[in-house]
Amino acid sequence: MEGEIYQKPSKGAHILVLPYPLQGHINPMLQFSKRLASKGLQVTVIITSSLSNQLLTPQTNFTSSPLEFLRIFDGFEGEPIKDDIEAYLEHLKVCISESLFELLKHYKQNNTSLHPTPKMVIYDAFMPWILEVVRKCGLEGAPFFTQSCVVNTIYYHAYNGDLSTSLRGSDLVSLPSVGSLLRVDDLPSFVSTPSLYPVALVKLLLDQFSNLKELNCLFVNTMDMLEIEVVNWMTNQWPVKTIGPCIPSTYLDKRLPDDKDYGLSLFEAQTNACIQWLDAREPASVVYISMGSMASLGNEQMGEIAKGLDKSSKYFLWVVRASEENKLPLNFKEKTSQKALIVSWCPQLEVLAHHAIGCFVTHCGWNSTLEAISLGVPMIAFPQWTDQPTNAKCIVDHWKIGVRVRVDENGFLSADEIEFCIREVMEGEFTKEIKNNATKWRHLTRQAMEEGGSSDRNIEEFVSKLLHP
Ligand code: UDP
Repeated sequence: MEGEIYQKPSKGAHILVLPYPLQGHINPMLQFSKRLASKGLQVTVIITSSLSNQLLTPQTNFTSSPLEFLRIFDGFEGEPIKDDIEAYLEHLKVCISESLFELLKHYKQNNTSLHPTPKMVIYDAFMPWILEVVRKCGLEGAPFFTQSCVVNTIYYHAYNGDLSTSLRGSDLVSLPSVGSLLRVDDLPSFVSTPSLYPVALVKLLLDQFSNLKELNCLFVNTMDMLEIEVVNWMTNQWPVKTIGPCIPSTYLDKRLPDDKDYGLSLFEAQTNACIQWLDAREPASVVYISMGSMASLGNEQMGEIAKGLDKSSKYFLWVVRASEENKLPLNFKEKTSQKALIVSWCPQLEVLAHHAIGCFVTHCGWNSTLEAISLGVPMIAFPQWTDQPTNAKCIVDHWKIGVRVRVDENGFLSADEIEFCIREVMEGEFTKEIKNNATKWRHLTRQAMEEGGSSDRNIEEFVSKLLHP
């Protein structure tokens, strides 16, 4: 067991929250933790060692958080090398299991009013083996799914072997849980093209469902209305609680004071530069483009996107992570400085909430998707892998709040196509309809998190069971 990072006075029932050490997984679990704390729970977020060494200040501010933080060893100090993904995942599993077991034992042996034994551990569904550790210590555990219900049910069917492995790109798939038919290439890439990935990675995703029958509660970062059919299908058979969108309260119901950002960051946002630049732009005039924290494009693809953005005659704000910057065409930043701002990381929520943003070219990570929905921003979907193709399908066909770029058989996006999509979303025949739909979904997400909304009720119910067993 390792030390406290930041400790708060005790109140109510105590729970632990254990995120998987990736930016896109920490963000929603932190937000969920803040919601639980705001309703009276004492919440300790466990930060694993590899992550804690990468966190940046002042982006990470433990003292101003309503949460308590505690660090445990996950087998790595600093950013782990993941060349052998199977070995990495196994090491993580062994070390986190040991550290958590020691921590829970310590809590039980030193049960004080300041540090009461936790009643429950909420853990990222990527780590289903946590349940065994927690139960060995006589406690309860509940997984937190960071992806949508549609994606989760697809993985569930794949885990059960309900999906044929001989499907091809344009084949249609009918799933009992998902009302409409899906094309194979709308499925998560680990399901549609598993052979492209290490076996251990596919297993990581599918194993989220390995102990489903043993669960008394599971949380999903979504809201009922977004995917009502699938949510109903899931809740009819599992104790599912939809508790999202897990994004800072300022951008939804505004009930959590000063809750403007997630609070922990692995990247340094160029906040002032972005906001000042956006302040000088007209409403709905800027294309915002970001591929999230992990996706990496080839040199040629970056060059083509650069060409398309340049041709589009729109202002654009492009997040090109430091590791990707050498893929930009020579002097591109300088050449486009009149109409573009290129940064290595931005405060995405603040950017999406800015009136100057006209559309979001996105890789369709689930957090980015939920953030854009919550802020009513039309999207241009350029999914890369994992759950992103399924999210793109929902953005275009289900919620009708954007378009999806057409790519060639190698997944390559041309400059003409990106330029075409930007026009289509910002000044095309369907611009108004897309914007109206985006506004509709923005209201619905807010309602879900407001007092008495579907997600708020689920959180309230869970907390009151812990506070008044
Ligand atoms: N993000 C950010 N600044 C950026 C790009 C991304 O703050 O410049 C945040 C974004 O708001 C989201 C997260 O990083 O919360 C990315 O998560 P997502 O699920 O969209 O994609 P992933 O990074 O997991 O692929």
